[in-house]
Amino acid sequence: MSQVPRSSPYPLIEVDNALSIALSEAALCQVTQVLSKEALGFVAAEHIYSKSPFPPFKASLKDGYAVRHPLTPGIKQLVGTVTTGRSKELPPVNCDQAAYITTGAPLPPGADSVIPVEWTLETGDPGFVMISRGTQVSGQEVRQIGSDISQGELIISEGSYIGVTECALLINCGVETVQVYKRPKVAVFSTGNELVEIGSSPLFGEVYDANRPLIIAALQRMNIETVDLGIVKDDEAHVRGAFERALELADIIITSGGVSMGSHDYVKNVLEQIGKVHFGRVRMKPGKPLTFATAESCKSRSKRFIVGLPGNPVSCYVCFYLLVVPLIRKLSGHSKPHLPRVQAELLDPIRLDPERPEYHRSILQWDFERHIYQAKSTGDQSSSRLLSATKANALLILPSENKTLEKGALVSAILLECDK
Ligand code: AMP
Ligand code: MG
Repeated sequence: MSQVPRSSPYPLIEVDNALSIALSEAALCQVTQVLSKEALGFVAAEHIYSKSPFPPFKASLKDGYAVRHPLTPGIKQLVGTVTTGRSKELPPVNCDQAAYITTGAPLPPGADSVIPVEWTLETGDPGFVMISRGTQVSGQEVRQIGSDISQGELIISEGSYIGVTECALLINCGVETVQVYKRPKVAVFSTGNELVEIGSSPLFGEVYDANRPLIIAALQRMNIETVDLGIVKDDEAHVRGAFERALELADIIITSGGVSMGSHDYVKNVLEQIGKVHFGRVRMKPGKPLTFATAESCKSRSKRFIVGLPGNPVSCYVCFYLLVVPLIRKLSGHSKPHLPRVQAELLDPIRLDPERPEYHRSILQWDFERHIYQAKSTGDQSSSRLLSATKANALLILPSENKTLEKGALVSAILLECDK
């Protein structure tokens, strides 16, 4: 009887190699115009410059009196009042005169400085004010035109993420609309004969589909439009049908399950039929069978990106942050597709895996005395134990070596759920 070795035809590649393969395949999405107030979560597709200086006029930094430098202490004549808002006629201020002014109001003609109200006394006569400390320099307590942001200044570079402050900055600088990269649309389905939806009662041998809700929630948090294609049975025709549908509906397709070497794992086979599999195994723990492919939609002939995530929920979660998030960031125009990394000190010893680098779920906390991140493990790292992902805000990158990393060892950590 002849014996055939049961090994995977896919070479086991390193994580960095897998990432660079996927990112080099990813071409930028198209550009679109959005209102600045609706630009949150997009990436700028152009350098954006301030339309107007800020502040747009010389403005008082304090409630007080607008005067002309040099001004010595003494009783001064009040020529009027300037408050914030539209002012048609501002009272001109000559030497030795003053105009009452509120914070943020424009300086009246002739005035170049402000005496804070704390340096003044009431005289009992509404037409005069007693100044107890004179001006030190011209421009005292005044914000000059464009002193925060000058007209034409670069405020957001192409490839930068538009977050909360960037949205406000655009409006601050009079920029009404911006060119941004369109975000990719993502179709998601789970594969597995054992999977049932929450709300139904699982029979013996069945489990709830946790991966699809996990992936969809993570995508929603990133403001990514999703197409939910449900649960697909472990059957070649069903899996193929789901991919064919998804190719017409979204730029990226994310599946979970069915990428291992089981008799009912059809995802890789089908991907070979409909497109090109770039890798099918990655040297990492968890998530070794992580698969990446590209294919074309039949109708639009557009390039699609397919990620087959492993079925165990924690493998699915780790691979999502390791590969899918950088892929989406690249396709969204982000100049820095990788999630940020920091260095952290282990709070407990960790036994390393001699075969594969491990992406260990961890809670990073800041040590305020020593100014360093400390990493606390989330405990049992079984790839089916989703509890190891809750509370985690980072993945520790643990090298593959036959030893234990002692408490206090320094490791790299990938920060999760970061947008910028
Ligand atoms: P697979 O990668 O399809 O071989 O699945 C590996 C393990 O993950 C099995 O125990 C599955 O039951 C489980 N699994 C697969 N898909 C899901 C899912 N969507 N939700 C929860 N568990 C899953
Ligand atoms: Mg399965």
